[in-house]
Amino acid sequence: EFDAALDVKTAKEHISKLRVQIKQWGQEYYENDAPTVEDATYDAAYASLVALEERFPQLITKDSPTQQVGGSVQKSALPKVEHPIPMLSLGDVFSMEQLTMWATRTEKNAVSKLDYNLELKIDGLAIALDYQEGKLVQASTRGNGVIGEDVTANILTIDAIPRQLTEPLTIEVRGEVFMPKQAFVNLNKQREADGLATFANPRNAAAGSLRQLDAKITKARQLSAFIYYTDQADILNVTTQAQVLKRFAELGLPVNLTNRVVTNANQFETVIKDFNQQREELPYGIDGIVVKVNSLDEQAKLGNTVKVPRWAIAYKFPPEEAITQVLDVEWTV
Ligand code: NAD
Repeated sequence: EFDAALDVKTAKEHISKLRVQIKQWGQEYYENDAPTVEDATYDAAYASLVALEERFPQLITKDSPTQQVGGSVQKSALPKVEHPIPMLSLGDVFSMEQLTMWATRTEKNAVSKLDYNLELKIDGLAIALDYQEGKLVQASTRGNGVIGEDVTANILTIDAIPRQLTEPLTIEVRGEVFMPKQAFVNLNKQREADGLATFANPRNAAAGSLRQLDAKITKARQLSAFIYYTDQADILNVTTQAQVLKRFAELGLPVNLTNRVVTNANQFETVIKDFNQQREELPYGIDGIVVKVNSLDEQAKLGNTVKVPRWAIAYKFPPEEAITQVLDVEWTV
């Protein structure tokens, strides 16, 4: 979309404008839980920035939104928590072609033949749960990836999250807190009746509900969670992502076991179509599929960039139109 003859000076101006705009939208979305534009609009601006920075890598700076995990905790009144191992974002693709290109590149960089674990991309917000000898002692949000917010009291109100694991493990696990579709519809109806601003989508409603100073408010919001990651898989005696999920379930953690292992990138399309067909009926929102290298050993070898793991990618679905309208018909009792 940018002129092939684009010179550095003009590119720099475009880049600067895009960064300001993306940062503002990011603040509205991550900090205020109140976006003012559709995700597709944000994604298009972000993709333009990535394209320009790829063409003019000399213009990449550390403070570019492409080099940082979205979200700041500066203005949050919640206590802060440091993540010694940063919580990352995910790279994303918007077509099967881009997904295949990602797989080809990843396979080239891998040591052995790759299997993939495909998971639903839950539309909520990332959290980290710290268990000491099986007991939940701290919960935090992703924040800017390095500094998050302490939401322990709020997390303790969520029924799906166990206070105690079935084994006395000391482990940090990570996953997604989300608001089920029905709870979202109910909440917005209530807010409308009370003359309050409604939430744009279940993701923002979940974030706004978890990041409360008063845990009683969180409790009333009927949040739920799925756990899908740990940096300490060695403790679990497993070798693949699919096994990690099974072990989590044994530990009593909430796990989304719709995941599918495929042995070849040719199989992505069929599985993704399957997932997409079930999307509307799911009681929670998803905004895509996460494709992960299944071998934990290969994951470690592929490593991460400053912002995203190289061993995983999010395939984003086209936006679901008028989710609340669909829901009013299908979900309201
Ligand atoms: P992201 O939310 O698209 O993807 C990364 C996150 O996916 C992870 O942090 C994790 O929390 C989550 N996730 C869900 N299921 C997962 C699974 N099974 N395995 C691993 N991770 C899983 O990335 P992001 O950087 O947090 O945010 C970018 C997104 O936010 C874009 O979709 C963008 O459109 C949206 N956004 C919108 C606006 C706006 O103004 N509308 C502003 C900023 C960001």
